Amino acid sequence: MKFLLALVALPLLAQQDLSVAWVRTSVEYAALTQQTYRGASQALETALADPRWTAALEQAQGFDELPPAVILDLDETVLDNSEHQASLAAQHIAFDNDKWQAWVAQAKAGPIPGAIEFLKFAQARGVALVYITNRTCKANDANDPTVRNLRRLGAPWVPSRLLCREGSSSDKSARRAAVAAAYRVLLLIGDDFQDFVSVPTEQNSIAGRREILGPNQPFFGDRWFLIPNPMYGSWERVLQR
Ligand SMILES: [Mg+2]
Repeated sequence: MKFLLALVALPLLAQQDLSVAWVRTSVEYAALTQQTYRGASQALETALADPRWTAALEQAQGFDELPPAVILDLDETVLDNSEHQASLAAQHIAFDNDKWQAWVAQAKAGPIPGAIEFLKFAQARGVALVYITNRTCKANDANDPTVRNLRRLGAPWVPSRLLCREGSSSDKSARRAAVAAAYRVLLLIGDDFQDFVSVPTEQNSIAGRREILGPNQPFFGDRWFLIPNPMYGSWERVLQR
């Protein structure tokens, strides 16, 4: 197993160039993200019509009268940061927090193909759009770069529905639970497994994550919609263990 992991982990920097190129240049990537958002639009209609429908594991009962919402991640789900990833790849850097914050501050991320059309469609159907992001943003500050970026792209947005990272944990389940207390959650949309489920530290391995996927697999393409991201993600940290 160690040998296999070495084969996967060693060429990561070379792979970085290829994965960024795929996102930035291939029609396959753009077709896939739009395919995902089209599927999400169709599922939205079904979900709206069924008051027992929920997409959040954190939502157990008593939600049928709540107003409908969709929960979305931001980076590589709505916001395209591949320009930043290309700059990192050119410098052979996997991640650098100062460089990431400098990129965020420019508020120049583009839209993931299909995202803005989906957001506007959901808004027109009376569905609240809630963003759960691990960016350290300030939802109530009109000058916050993430807020400015969303506004620049024409993404429907209100301060109370932009849930930024709190503290050091990147786990999103507490924020999903808070949304589930106020809304019926129709769909979850993200680019990372942890945009959908919580992965306990002790289970964060290739086998552990597959085990969590097992019973949850039927949700994908039904009420959970995954945007491809070969550039980075929680999948990558498992390789380094
Ligand atoms: Mg993301």
